[in-house]
Order: sequence, then structure tokens, then C-alpha cells
Amino acid sequence: MSSPKYKRILLKLSGEVLMGDQQFGIDPAFVAELAQEVKAAKDNGLEICLVIGGGNIFRGMAGAAQGMDRAQADYMGMLATVMNALAMQNALEQLGVQTRVQSAVQMDQVCEPVIRRRAERHLEKGRVVIFAAGVGAPYFTTDSGAALRAAEMRCDALFKGTSVDGVYDSDPKLNSAAKRFETVSYDKVLANNLRVMDASAVALCRDNGIPIVVFSIREKGNLARVLAGEGIQTVVKEEA
Ligand code: UDP
Repeated sequence: MSSPKYKRILLKLSGEVLMGDQQFGIDPAFVAELAQEVKAAKDNGLEICLVIGGGNIFRGMAGAAQGMDRAQADYMGMLATVMNALAMQNALEQLGVQTRVQSAVQMDQVCEPVIRRRAERHLEKGRVVIFAAGVGAPYFTTDSGAALRAAEMRCDALFKGTSVDGVYDSDPKLNSAAKRFETVSYDKVLANNLRVMDASAVALCRDNGIPIVVFSIREKGNLARVLAGEGIQTVVKEEA
């Protein structure tokens, strides 16, 4: 396989991928498989920041739709992302990969707070840094958290691993003729409301020149292929 194109990346995994084939929660066997993929990327010399969503456990919008106060529900969502971060930390450490979790909501007994310089040091020492609790504020999502950490940690790219293999011109689940983009500009994603990440996350990446690589994390070995510039993916960048 060709040498990696990137030195430091941010990998965003939606909470849903931790469910495996379950309808809810965390499937430890599947998390272990994901951890293998992360380890392979790290063994290839990459510095890795991880952000994991919480949608497999709780989403603030869902709570609000059922009558909860939105901010309160969002805090619950943030706590869900911490649970996922701890599950991933456990899986990685069982493979011998050193990690640190840094949470945007302080939780001293469980993990570190987000401290950029400390995170830098962890990366230098070869640790994977898992950023939990998104940006630490309600009305945001972990996509925005991922874009923020990618900018703050000066990552070369933001890899968004989901259950879809890229960005389409319409929803491939509803339209069998939907076309996948190889590359697409930030502005087109925003103007056409293509479902990649939240608009605020896309805008933050655009303003900081961080390419977003959208790919499916569900197939084994795909992260390594995508990191090598191979495999099925869509790259969101300035001029496509
Ligand atoms: N959340 C939040 N602020 C943040 C990040 C997350 O309030 O900065 C809450 C929000 O309620 C969100 C939930 O945490 O619905 C889980 O995150 P997200 O929906 O991004 O998870 P994913 O869809 O990636 O699994």
C-alpha cells in the first residue's frame, strides 16, 4: 500500500456505528473491530484524534421532540458521547494502543478535560486522543466538535466514517439513481444542503481549509484504503 498522504487526522465516527447490528447501544465486538482499524492506521505512522458521536444512545433532538427541554436533552447527549469514548478507549487499550480521553464537559474521575497543549503532547507520544462531549455546549453536535478539534489540533483532514460510502446528490436510500460525488466543494454541500455534516461543521472546515473525507466505516479495512487515497469515498474541499 502506498505511503500515507496525511500525518495527523481527525477521525469522526457517528455513534451509530458502535451499535454494530444492534438497534441501540454499544456492541463491544463491533467496537473491537473498529479499534483494530484505528490501530492499523496508527501503526502506519499516523497521529490520530478521535471524535465519537452519541446517537446510538441519546440525541438531544429526539429528547426535545418528546417534550424535554432541548438544552437539558443535549447535555444527556453529550454524556452519551463520553460513554462511547470510554468504550473505544477500552477497546483500543485492549489492543495495546495508548489513549487519552479528553472531555469538553469536565469529569475529573473519568477522563481529562480538553487541554490542547496536553493533547499535542499525547499525540507526540504516540497516544490516540479521543475527544468527548463535542464542543461542550448544547445546540451543537459532535460533527461541530470534530471540525473544531480538527482545526484546533491542525489536522490534515477530517475523516467522517459513517454507514454511507460518500456524499450523494440525493438520498441513495430513497433514490436508486442517486449519484455519488468523487469530490464536491464546501459551498455546494452548503448551498444544496447535502447531508454530510452540520452546516456549522462544514463552514468551520471550509474556513480553515480542512478537507472532509466521507467514507463507510462498515466494511473491514476500509479506513486503511481510504487513508491511502484508495477505496470509495467523497472528498469535500475548496474547488471540486
Ligand atoms: N451534543 C451537544 N453538543 C455537542 C455535541 C453533542 O449538545 O457539542 C449532544 C446532542 O444532543 C447530540 C448528542 O450529543 O444529539 C449526540 O451527538 P451527535 O448527534 O453528534 O452524535 P452522532 O450523530 O454523531 O452519533
